[in-house]
Amino acid sequence: MSTVVPRTTPMLRQYFEMKSRVPDAILLYRMGDFYEMFFDDARDAAPLLGIALTARHKDSDIEAPMCGVPHQAVDHHIARLVAAGRKVAVCDQVEDARAAKGLVRRDITRVVTPGTVLDPESLSPGAPSYLAALGPGREDELGESHCGVAFLDLSTGRFLAGRVAPSRVEDALALFRPREILLPDGALAPAFAAALSRRPSDWWTRAAEGPAWTDGSLEANARGAAAAARAYAEEVRPGGLGHVLAPAPLEFDRRMGLDAAAVGTLELFESSDGSAARSLCAAVDRTRTPIGARALREALSHPSLDPVELEARWDAVEELVRRADRAEELQAALEAVGDLERRFARVAVGTAGPREVSALGAGLEAVPAVVRAASALEAGRFRSLVETIPDTGDLARRVAGTLAPVPPVLASAGNVIREGFDRELDELRALRRDAQSAVLAVETEERRRSGISSLRVKYNRVFGYSLEVGAAHREKVPADWIRRQSLANAERFVTPALKELEEKILGAEDRITAIETRLYGELLRELATAGDRVGRTASAAAELDVHASLAEVARVGRWARPRLSEERRLRIVDGRHPLVERHRREEPFVPNDTDLDAERRIQLVTGPNMGGKSTYLRQVATVALLAQAGSFVPAARAELSLFDRIFTRVGAADHLSRGESTFMVEMLESAAILREATPRSLVILDEVGRGTSTFDGLSIAWAMLEYLHDEPSKSALVLFATHYHELTEISLVKPAVANATMAVKEVAGRVVFLRKVVPGAADRSYGIHVAELAGIPGEVTARAREVLENLEKQELDVQGAPVIARKQGESAGSGQYLLFSAEEELAIEKLRTVDLDRMTPLAGLALLASLQERLKGR
Ligand code: ATP
Repeated sequence: MSTVVPRTTPMLRQYFEMKSRVPDAILLYRMGDFYEMFFDDARDAAPLLGIALTARHKDSDIEAPMCGVPHQAVDHHIARLVAAGRKVAVCDQVEDARAAKGLVRRDITRVVTPGTVLDPESLSPGAPSYLAALGPGREDELGESHCGVAFLDLSTGRFLAGRVAPSRVEDALALFRPREILLPDGALAPAFAAALSRRPSDWWTRAAEGPAWTDGSLEANARGAAAAARAYAEEVRPGGLGHVLAPAPLEFDRRMGLDAAAVGTLELFESSDGSAARSLCAAVDRTRTPIGARALREALSHPSLDPVELEARWDAVEELVRRADRAEELQAALEAVGDLERRFARVAVGTAGPREVSALGAGLEAVPAVVRAASALEAGRFRSLVETIPDTGDLARRVAGTLAPVPPVLASAGNVIREGFDRELDELRALRRDAQSAVLAVETEERRRSGISSLRVKYNRVFGYSLEVGAAHREKVPADWIRRQSLANAERFVTPALKELEEKILGAEDRITAIETRLYGELLRELATAGDRVGRTASAAAELDVHASLAEVARVGRWARPRLSEERRLRIVDGRHPLVERHRREEPFVPNDTDLDAERRIQLVTGPNMGGKSTYLRQVATVALLAQAGSFVPAARAELSLFDRIFTRVGAADHLSRGESTFMVEMLESAAILREATPRSLVILDEVGRGTSTFDGLSIAWAMLEYLHDEPSKSALVLFATHYHELTEISLVKPAVANATMAVKEVAGRVVFLRKVVPGAADRSYGIHVAELAGIPGEVTARAREVLENLEKQELDVQGAPVIARKQGESAGSGQYLLFSAEEELAIEKLRTVDLDRMTPLAGLALLASLQERLKGR
């Protein structure tokens, strides 16, 4: 049954008018005691909020899919919608419903978006909450196209801006993981999943004229994007940007480059099955504060390229690994610091409740213990961090001296300000207390006088104080009581004395509220001016937390300090994959070695399905990433040069939703690698060419390997895993390629995976063996063996050289490979060209003898 939407009712017209102003937000429309959602909003929101979808509002003419939430609980529901990535607009009644003639006037009073929200319920403590602004692409003087990008985390005040090539926008998004992306109207939506907000291009132009940041280090595109982010945030949260300073430049070049593919492959923020708890970040996170957890994420997302910085970080971790006692002391002190950044942001914006301000104060009170613990350590990094921590004792004392010992969550609840802080407030409170006890005295007295033992003094917001008497005792009510209200089973009365006390109490109440509100406001404003000091304290505490966390992980997991190599090198002894080791407990993890340098730059890894190739490749990249993030690494020893980028192309990423075939994605990623790799990069290629026919795939893989080998500007360190064991022959002709294989053992006809990387090439893939294990009929697998044999016969040419290695215009053995001496080459050439038809048997014999002579002389 379809509902006919009565578009003509005044209420619906009003609803659609409101909705048209916020088309991409879920509109919460106030009706009586509820906020209602209609049509698609209701269909979307009901499952997210776990509430029932109904069809008709009981006292209105709207008939449509709808759902609603009680107005008292609206904040909680908004938080849930926003946490689910949705934007929410609140439409309130803006005139008194009783005074309204006809339809009550309504207006949008609040918009809450995932990228601007500050409510702790909508934020994940250990992760940033960025709003991204992506400006339109523009060409620079050299004709290269760039986009301005800005990332603004309103919850902490962090603000960064820079410019990127359009092809790298997606990579920047994968690293910063914004919750909301601001775009010009009509711009293509990025693939990265986030709430989208759009503004017309003239809005962008106007926004760019807004702020007068004096810092000239930002290029125009970057400044434009930053200005847009700021203008949008200001639009959504007017006056809520007091804690946001000028944007800092995003310096992609000064950090290791990680693209979206590497972020996914290395499971930086989420494991391959989408779990944040099994990600690399989570594996090294033993931080004690949310500020530390976020700083650790940042270190892993932007690994360092600075050897001095890295040695200092490793020194710090090393000392904490050795001195477990001091590390524990530091961590215990950090525990009490809490989320200084986000609490401060809410103070600065004015939305922090008293309980939060009190927590901010307690956090600052904990700082001296952190400073003491860090000062007891020797590494230079601790000293330089401690030096940046300013004294915030005055702020902590101010909070503790102003707020009640256990203040309420909401300022409106009262009893916010501490006894003894303000004389007038204390006096009014005493007055109120006295009057309240006088009320109790009235109760006792009237109970005695009337003989009604169940008599109670009640307080009600509309009727004030009254004496409540059960209906049964009506007869006993003294004549001088004045009736105020009749209820079903009771009646309420007042006396002149009670009335007088009531006025006193309510009068005091009003003044108490006014004074508390004023004093609390003053406290917030005063704290808000200390943004710089709180910010510096938070950054230093966060860094200390990061070092302590990495030290704990290193100590527990027996990780090693990396050694930096000046030469291009990646040498790992007994390396492990930290996530596979942790989360796959079916078999003990087998450590593996890696040894790559300028002479042996490319390792080609073959081996059976399920042998452990992918794990090995990812493990090597993970070790490099961890090292440059300032961490120890899961290995007995590791020596490496600094990598400017880690490229990965692993497995079949499913981008079908973007309309790209798996093979196309594979080629896009591979193309990016071949285009952008440098001699300082680390490249991980897993099964390139698998998404197409064997011959196509093998050919592409072979050519890519040759290119990475021969092209000096691309001479990265490369790990290349493949099932095409034909590829291993490339090592015969390309000296920097080394073969390695995953060892297997055959025990009683069964294949046992040893998970050990050993030199050499796999002689087969064991694919048919796996097929047998899986129950493919014997006839089929036997025939498969025959076919395989036929195919393999054609792999090498008559001289044993790989057939597939030939180049156009070259015939076999034409000297391309140094397999034959010059004499041999000549002999072969002679054989090839001699015209036997025109030769006498004797001449033939003579030729044969001369050829043999040549070859013997070798
Ligand atoms: P395929 O070629 O089929 O993609 P693969 O050779 O890439 O397989 P992986 O996916 O790396 O193999 O590993 C297969 C399984 O072996 C995984 O479940 C992993 O947990 C386990 N494994 C890999 N390496 C090790 C290791 N060093 N020690 C213990 N278990 C390992």
